[in-house]
Amino acid sequence: MRISRVETIPIKQELERPFGNGQGWTASRQYLIVRVTAEDGTVGYGECWGPVAGNDRVVESVISPLLIGQDATATGRLWEQVHFKLRWAFHSFAPYSALSGVDIALWDLKGKLMGRPVHDLLGGAFRDSVPAYATGHYFRKVDTLKEQVSAVLEEAEDHVESGFKTLKLKIGLGLLGWGVEADIELMGALHESVTPRGVSLMIDANCAYSVPEALRVGRAAEKLGIVWFEEPLPPDDMDGYAQLTAKLDVPVAAGESWALLSGFHEAFRRRAVSVAQPDVSSAGGITEVKRIADLAHALNIPCIPHVWGTPIALAASLHLLAALPRHALLEFDRSENGIRESLLADKFRVRDDGTVAVPDGPGLGIEVDEEQLDRFSTLA
Ligand code: CA
Repeated sequence: MRISRVETIPIKQELERPFGNGQGWTASRQYLIVRVTAEDGTVGYGECWGPVAGNDRVVESVISPLLIGQDATATGRLWEQVHFKLRWAFHSFAPYSALSGVDIALWDLKGKLMGRPVHDLLGGAFRDSVPAYATGHYFRKVDTLKEQVSAVLEEAEDHVESGFKTLKLKIGLGLLGWGVEADIELMGALHESVTPRGVSLMIDANCAYSVPEALRVGRAAEKLGIVWFEEPLPPDDMDGYAQLTAKLDVPVAAGESWALLSGFHEAFRRRAVSVAQPDVSSAGGITEVKRIADLAHALNIPCIPHVWGTPIALAASLHLLAALPRHALLEFDRSENGIRESLLADKFRVRDDGTVAVPDGPGLGIEVDEEQLDRFSTLA
């Protein structure tokens, strides 16, 4: 079955209430959806990371001409051909999120054409559900730390009542003009509030710190038994990551800002992280993140994918997690996202036991609502 069409649909929704993390403020949700159609009309969906940022042109003018007429089930060969073409065209600055979105769409299409869920095609599922942790607790535009703390505690109650056993806290309050002591205070307050009820915590600084700052926060986190310390440093400070991992007992996690097996190989070779977090929509798609997870498995490093997009990226991540032998844990974003809530007729839910079911239909096993895609489309 040959590929007949490759399209992109940029989508966007403004947020009712902008929120912040260690990098800056987010005022809208925006993604580039990729739709690949086979000769028989079967359609596969994929998603490129974050702001559209020119990926639509890359997919339509560079990648699409390469794919049209090719075997729609040849995910491995097509990945290599697209990767080669992007590297040839862009050298050191290739847009791997474009490759990722196309790869996810091809896996969805291949699964539908073969009548099998993606996790079957990845080697078979080890589980039919995955425990989820709640991402949220972003910064509000508040005047005092006290207001931020009480907003976080209130939000955490909602996650715990919804069944989550693990929560991730955003730190890096330098964005609001406060130092690392404010982050330590916020972490301590949430820890005190939820851990007596058997709830565990991760912290995520979104690259906000220098090595000395990260050491101070990391040592405070160790005392509290924090599950992991995510993105303490900018992604290109690989030496800093290796230093922190060597010095801290709390596991250092990172990877959402890294791409390709070669990038993760370098991080692993330097023992820069104790938890690897590739994102299917930016690190190279399902094809490459499975390879990254396999390398991590060989090196005894947990691979817990980063997930922050639409239900398409969520579904792709669930299929991958189902097919990994160990350490399955799903990142489940709970912050405001109208696209996530309405793109599928049957949306993903966290069950009372804190798990999310792995889809078992062909391909990604989801049904994208085309009317909702039109509603969020910026193509008008
Ligand atoms: Ca993160």
